[in-house]
Amino acid sequence: MSGSERADLMELYQSIILDHNRRPKNYGALEVATARRHDRNPACGDEIHLDLHVEDDVITDVKFTAEGCAVSRASASIMTQAVKGKSREEADALFVQFRELVTGKLNPTPDEVRKLGEIAAFSGVSRFPIRVKCASMAWHSLQAALRGDASAS
Ligand code: ZN
Repeated sequence: MSGSERADLMELYQSIILDHNRRPKNYGALEVATARRHDRNPACGDEIHLDLHVEDDVITDVKFTAEGCAVSRASASIMTQAVKGKSREEADALFVQFRELVTGKLNPTPDEVRKLGEIAAFSGVSRFPIRVKCASMAWHSLQAALRGDASAS
């Protein structure tokens, strides 16, 4: 990838994040949830309320509300889109990939980028350690909700 191609990609990723921040998907609360979480990222002041509905090991529905920076809100929005309809196992596998991506351990091939979809927009975050926490908060909430941990709040 040339320098200008990389710059174009980073611009695209930036616009995906800003777009999800402005118009988050799956925003709100579930009437019926099998797990609810409230988590904070004190490093940045981000907060999330995550509602999850799991049936027969499948995430049948998920919604969230979040206050905080664009990265944390966009990550929650993209996470809910990515895991809705997925099994626990698939959601866990996505989390592993996401974590490797934001910590710079995964340098995705074009094929992996296609599979990651909008999650790939967070690949630029690995260069900003403080943002890794913002991007990861929603995924940690999801993991905790799937494990059935009592809410942190
Ligand atoms: Zn943040």
